[in-house]
Amino acid sequence: MELAKNSHLSKIAKELKPSGIRKFFDLAAGMEGVISLGVGEPDFVTSWSVREAAILSLEQGNTSYTANAGLPELRNEISLYMQRQFQVEYSPETEIIVTVGASQAIDIAMRAILDPGDEVIVIEPCFVSYIPMVQLAGGVPVQVQTLKENDFKILPSQIEEVITEKTKAIMLCSPNNPTGSMLNKKELEELAAMVEKHDLLVIADEIYAELVYDEEYTSLPAIPGMRDRTILISGFSKGFAMTGWRLGFVCAPSEITGAMLKIHQYAIMCAPTMAQYAALEALRNGRSDVDDMVKSYRRRRNFIVQSFNEIGLTCHMPGGAFYAFPSIESTGLSSQEFAEQLLLQESVAVVPGDVFGESGNGHIRCSYATSLEQIQEAVKRMKHFIDNLPSKK
Ligand code: PMP
Repeated sequence: MELAKNSHLSKIAKELKPSGIRKFFDLAAGMEGVISLGVGEPDFVTSWSVREAAILSLEQGNTSYTANAGLPELRNEISLYMQRQFQVEYSPETEIIVTVGASQAIDIAMRAILDPGDEVIVIEPCFVSYIPMVQLAGGVPVQVQTLKENDFKILPSQIEEVITEKTKAIMLCSPNNPTGSMLNKKELEELAAMVEKHDLLVIADEIYAELVYDEEYTSLPAIPGMRDRTILISGFSKGFAMTGWRLGFVCAPSEITGAMLKIHQYAIMCAPTMAQYAALEALRNGRSDVDDMVKSYRRRRNFIVQSFNEIGLTCHMPGGAFYAFPSIESTGLSSQEFAEQLLLQESVAVVPGDVFGESGNGHIRCSYATSLEQIQEAVKRMKHFIDNLPSKK
């Protein structure tokens, strides 16, 4: 039965656009022999000891809800991890909530801070869920475009240009999905000065903080003055290869986590219990596995970026995450055309850059979270595709 003119649906649900990434996955799903550089998740299976910890928790009968904010021992371990890894202190009792992925943490952060009409500055190209999350919380996203000339790093002056009296927060993602760009300490300090000057909050999505390749990572709340202005979002999906476990966390001053916890307890109750036991093991004993994965991503990154530049797709060296974001402008095709033709002619799936925001046009996102052999074959096919474009003949 079709609902009468969709009249049962909310205006906001009707107006939400489906994710632009989906279209390409659906197209690729019907084809054989496709090499996918499209997916945004690790190709590694979660470490055995982490899986075993979850199994053990089930054997021991730990099948009930945990505390709303998460297992106390997990929050304690997250607090120690944040100190050890990023030199920031958070109280396990009042400043940390374990969430259903970073995704839910972003959702409840928006809902906790936004009144109708409040603006959030969203730095594009960015992860596809930020804008819908702002809108679903009643806020208004204000987009700012990073530029390839700046290696897709945001300049504080670009943000200042769009600040109004309604601006509540900045949504920041570093290392970034889809560009892989990462702000260094000095760049974060410059951003922090501007944030303080305008009395703003930052929702800092640091889900890729473990996956950095050249310089040491600086977490935004570690910058003087920023701890009390930051809602730090992170999780286990990327660094610990645990996407399917659906486990993330948020760290913020207690006034903010207090509000977030109220929303979390009504909407979700608590994150999955067995996944929390798994995460506990990941934080306690998972370091060497993370280091091994980082080594492997670094090798693949170096290969893919060098190869793209050799075949005429200019590509900056991404500091983190597992995405390369080469320009395809030299081909004369739009991002959508490039991705579609590459998939149909060479069976290589990439994501057109414009699905992440306006300045992503002219680029494609290629995930190197797949084996080096697959990446080598994909690059070979991409070279063949480019060499045989009508404009090159
Ligand atoms: N933030 C960014 C930037 C991401 O790329 C992703 C996953 N693609 C998420 C958040 C969501 O992560 P999770 O699996 O923890 O919900």
